[in-house]
Amino acid sequence: MNTWLDIPRNSDFSVHNLPYGIFSTSSRRPRVGVAIGDQIIDLAALAIRRYFQNLSIEPEVLEQSSLNAFIRLGKPTWQAVRKRLTSWLTQTDSPLYHLRKECFVAQSEAKMHLPLEIGDYTDFYASEAHATNVGTMFRGKENALMPNWKHMPIAYHGRASSIVVSGTNIHRPKGQIILKSADQPVFSPTQALDFELEMAAVIGKENKLGTSVRPEKAEDYIFGFVLFNDWSARDIQRWEYVPLGPFLGKNFASSISPWVVPLEALQPFRVDGPEQQPKPLPYLQTSDRQNFDINLEVAIQPEGENDVVVSQTNFKNMYWNIGQMLAHHTVNGCNMRIGDLLASGTISGEESDSYGSLLELSWNGERPLKINSNQPRTYLEDGDTVTLRGYAEQEGIRVGFGEVRTKILPSL
Ligand code: MN
Repeated sequence: MNTWLDIPRNSDFSVHNLPYGIFSTSSRRPRVGVAIGDQIIDLAALAIRRYFQNLSIEPEVLEQSSLNAFIRLGKPTWQAVRKRLTSWLTQTDSPLYHLRKECFVAQSEAKMHLPLEIGDYTDFYASEAHATNVGTMFRGKENALMPNWKHMPIAYHGRASSIVVSGTNIHRPKGQIILKSADQPVFSPTQALDFELEMAAVIGKENKLGTSVRPEKAEDYIFGFVLFNDWSARDIQRWEYVPLGPFLGKNFASSISPWVVPLEALQPFRVDGPEQQPKPLPYLQTSDRQNFDINLEVAIQPEGENDVVVSQTNFKNMYWNIGQMLAHHTVNGCNMRIGDLLASGTISGEESDSYGSLLELSWNGERPLKINSNQPRTYLEDGDTVTLRGYAEQEGIRVGFGEVRTKILPSL
């Protein structure tokens, strides 16, 4: 597919991608756009000129500060818009070509916003390497995986209100922690601030309360994916998590990438997941190729220094796939709503340079990392910038997620 736009070969935002986001410029308020190369197609500007009228998309739907109203129009509409943009981008006798002055905005001129109104967010724990690493550190090798782990995708309900978009700096959170060789807690800024490399699916269709979604139908319920950094304060988490699970060690912030990559753009990158043994219960059984081959990496940039990649892994390694996560989440009749996020859980590979958290990379503090000229470190320091990146690539076709970049500021 050739486009008349000049797009660098290594751009995340090729004509095969067309991710949706919410952007604003100094002169115009937030609206829906689609990324292409280093540009944004202003969908609202096209709608005002009636180019989406025969698809029954009112301009107001695209002049919103979230994608929810557009997503609510349904899969046939997303597909029609995608088809239309693809054809306009590949033909010079198209409205987009003739309106390229009016309907394109340089990404460098735009501010990106949180793209979704997120009602609920759930965090899974679907990587076997991650669950095994964490289990080994806390319970020993023999009891690494809990007996339930291979029977269901384990998850907890996260906090949606503190999800922020890439570029939003976060302050080191405070809470109760137990200092070394103490048995009573103190109130303190966390001394174990960590990232978690994850992907999150954006719900694009609702199921009614009391109904459930079969794993093979999951495709119809997912609009797309974003990169997801599930910030964690390990010391707060370790002290508080028994018996009800993660709370203040997790809910101070999570960060997402601004562009939602449509599920449709990821279809060429489907691959088989790992073999599941024991065989899951029937409601969790899926067919082949339910995983996605997406390269992922994490970089840390200490204040005033260079960005250093500390981990590289792949989304295809997940034990439980997104269809199984959605099927499990809804099997009791729990209803999903448009804009909800289902995060995968930390994505770790088998090798020690493919772990998706500092908890694992530093092996619970036993193996400090050396990053540039800084002293060896186990967890994040104030002034560090953490960046997650991800892309799928095959036969010259590249579909990328851009990045989610966050700077750690001192406690307030
Ligand atoms: Mn997580």
